[in-house]
Amino acid sequence: METQFFLITDPAAQTEDVAAAAAILRSGGLLGIPTETVYGLGANGLDAAAVRRIFEAKGRPQDNPLILHIPEAGWLERYCRNIPPAARLLAQAFWPGPLTMILQRRENVPNAVTCGLDTVGVRCPDHPVTLAILRAAGVPAAAPSGNLSGRPSPTCASHMLEDMDGRIDGLVDGGPCGVGVESTIIDLTTPIPRLLRPGGLPLEQLREVLGEVAVDRAVTSPLAAGEKPRAPGMKYRHYAPKAPVTVVTGEGRRTARYIRRNLAGHMGVICFDEYADQFPGCVVEAIGSANDRAEQARRVFDALRAFDGTDVEAIYAQCPGDAGLGMAVANRLKKAAGFQVVALGEDGE
Ligand code: AMP
Ligand code: MG
Repeated sequence: METQFFLITDPAAQTEDVAAAAAILRSGGLLGIPTETVYGLGANGLDAAAVRRIFEAKGRPQDNPLILHIPEAGWLERYCRNIPPAARLLAQAFWPGPLTMILQRRENVPNAVTCGLDTVGVRCPDHPVTLAILRAAGVPAAAPSGNLSGRPSPTCASHMLEDMDGRIDGLVDGGPCGVGVESTIIDLTTPIPRLLRPGGLPLEQLREVLGEVAVDRAVTSPLAAGEKPRAPGMKYRHYAPKAPVTVVTGEGRRTARYIRRNLAGHMGVICFDEYADQFPGCVVEAIGSANDRAEQARRVFDALRAFDGTDVEAIYAQCPGDAGLGMAVANRLKKAAGFQVVALGEDGE
């Protein structure tokens, strides 16, 4: 299959390109779409056959459901029932934006999207190009991240092309992603709203609107054998480069020292900018200043992906704490590490 490439910088002016991309979606094709979080692999979310092709193209496990992307909150009613007031509040506060809500689904949402669950994840992405394409298509896009299953999510069109060239009908380049980690997922079908995946919208902001929000255990720890996750995607190893990763948590100077002392062989290091010159002989990927979590979020997947072009045998990663976007960055690093974590304290030896 030849993958058609679109570069859309101004959707209002490039109406023909928007229409051509929308036609791919409408007609059951697979379309790579830019969003503010990561690039998505979209198909018409009402067309079960088209949605099934997403799973084939990614090699995605059949029990890991997809998120429906809609161009405005007004479309929620079309695909969801029993929408609680909390959903309206959140949509008003944070859409378009990096927040996915789990709600009860209507019958018109195919099982192929929800993997048979009676709930569906819905999000309105904050990207003018994809919003224009969704409006022109007149259908929601079911879309997971646009990587091969298990690989780091793509944060620019060329990373998506690396994984998907020849496997999809079209790819829309709308520039690099501004957020860099996937959406925050909150389940609103439980009595207390529950965070299933930390992402581009910090937990603190959800709590400002909702009050109490529970955090699913799978956000911070691996699942026990046989344990059934609330978000099916949680049970898979994710975002992983080819070399094994070890995450080191704690104060920056301490984690840098720990990593230096444990280097053996040809190693990769993911670190904060301040420590980038402390690992001679290693392949070093700096992900931003220790205090700049938005920058770390933008760069963490690029860093994980970069090691695949090298012959490093193992990778150590410095890791931010859980405040703000740190929770999403730390979660992605820990999942890439299969939760192989060395926890150091904040001071002392
Ligand atoms: P991805 O876009 O590849 O990051 O995958 C979408 C994520 O949304 C996965 O982690 C899914 O498990 C999660 N998800 C989608 N729909 C639901 C749902 N109805 N209930 C719980 N999690 C969901
Ligand atoms: Mg994904």
